[in-house]
Order: sequence, then structure tokens, then C-alpha cells
Amino acid sequence: MSNLKFCQGPDCHTYTTQDRLKGTKPNKTYQTRRRSNLLWSEFCDRRCFEDWFSKYGTQAVNHYSRITEAKHLTEQNAWAKRYRWDYERNNGEAQHYYLNTITQEQRPLTEAQYDDSNYTINTGE
Ligand SMILES: [Zn+2]
Repeated sequence: MSNLKFCQGPDCHTYTTQDRLKGTKPNKTYQTRRRSNLLWSEFCDRRCFEDWFSKYGTQAVNHYSRITEAKHLTEQNAWAKRYRWDYERNNGEAQHYYLNTITQEQRPLTEAQYDDSNYTINTGE
């Protein structure tokens, strides 16, 4: 068994590129792309993502996360992860930190915290 994933683009197989042409003569067909690593998450490229979104995007937003009132950026949720290269003070290593985009306050952050998409000091959305 392979670990290849199919591109989820509903029309992927209709784009007649050589890499989609599979099988042996005389039964070659253009087929949905399969990759071990799809560059656009579930899709082989931007076009396939856009095909999917134009077909299912409204349903997906309605199902998972339709925004029905304005969100507000406050001091409590304005912490953004940043990094910079500081050759003088940090031996050429990237320095990770939190920046509050409203108050401009900075707080230190480890690289592991920076990489952890679940780690946040924001309270509220
Ligand atoms: Zn595709």
C-alpha cells in the first residue's frame, strides 16, 4: 500500500497534463493527481483548491465557522508571533518573540512555542 493522497480537486482529472496521464496503452486516462505530499494541503495546486472552494466553500463556511458579527482586536488578543535575526546579540540564531500589535510590548518566546500552533498567550478571539 502506498501513502499517496488524492488531490481533492473535483476537476483535477480534467486538466490534461502529462503527469496525469496514467495506465498502459490503450487504456491510458487522465487521472486525479496522487502525491505523498500535496503542496496545497488537500490539493495539488491552487487551481484545484479554487475549484473545490467555488463548489463547496459556502457549505464549508456555513458548516464550520461562519462569522456573523465583527471580531475585535484588543490588547488581550493582539499578541502575534514574530522572529528576527539578531547577529550581534543572538549568535546568528533567530530570536522568537511575541509582539502585541496594539501596545507594541514584546515578550520572549521559545522556538518550540513559536512552532506550536496551539500555543498562545492571547485571551479571547
Ligand atoms: Zn488537483
